[in-house]
Amino acid sequence: MARCLIALGGNLCGSEALFQRAIQQLDAGGDRVLAVSRNFETRAVGEEAGGGFLNAAAVLETAAAPLRLLERLQAIESECGRERLLRWGPRTLDLDLLLFGDSVQWESRLILPHPAMWLRRFVLSSAVAVAGDMWHPQLGQSIDQLWRQLCTSELMVSVNLSAELVQAEDFAGFLEQPMQHGAVCFQRPDTAVEADVNWFARLELRRADLRNPPWSYPEAYPGARTLVLFVRSPENAIEQLRQTATAITG
Ligand code: ADP
Ligand code: MG
Repeated sequence: MARCLIALGGNLCGSEALFQRAIQQLDAGGDRVLAVSRNFETRAVGEEAGGGFLNAAAVLETAAAPLRLLERLQAIESECGRERLLRWGPRTLDLDLLLFGDSVQWESRLILPHPAMWLRRFVLSSAVAVAGDMWHPQLGQSIDQLWRQLCTSELMVSVNLSAELVQAEDFAGFLEQPMQHGAVCFQRPDTAVEADVNWFARLELRRADLRNPPWSYPEAYPGARTLVLFVRSPENAIEQLRQTATAITG
């Protein structure tokens, strides 16, 4: 049996019922739901995302293999999605597998632990309510520690660019603006940055290719974390940076 952590997300309107339904289906499908957080209202990530969101987390015990569990989550997502489209308009239920015991894997269909969980306030705020003691096997920190780190005010995100993006005028213009979002300070290092305890994240923006999943973090630097965002265009890079800022501070 593996102890897993699941993130539930959706738009404010209608998600409460969908969350309940998703939890019931998980429980009825052979997995044992050990704990479910209350629902947290969070700020929408991305300028186009519309109104507020609802997030929750659940701890689950399962005998299924990781990929099998992901398939179950996706089946629940699409089943709830169909009903949702008819009744409440275009709203989504998002079920992410954050942790699966101590599993660490890097496949495009399933990356474990979930690669962006450590910098998303809307994920960790509910996760810490039910799974503060659960362990991130790759970062060697508990959810509680990750949450406290995310809440510190010295959070800095250093942006490393691919050569292509450095030359893109609209992107360079965007980065020349002061990039302060709440506690997050984006910095574009033109000189090499020494890893320091205050550097929590080091984004690297790279051109997407077909083999890559949308994001990953290939290695941890001392005192820093790296999230690689694969982008399709300078506009897409700007949007991803905005979304990341909201995810950290929102
Ligand atoms: P997001 O959750 O980032 O908003 P989606 O729910 O649309 O995006 O998921 C995109 C893809 O991410 C899915 O096709 C899924 O196979 C993949 N994926 C990789 N790792 C995970 C994970 N740990 N949990 C959920 N989906 C994952
Ligand atoms: Mg998802």
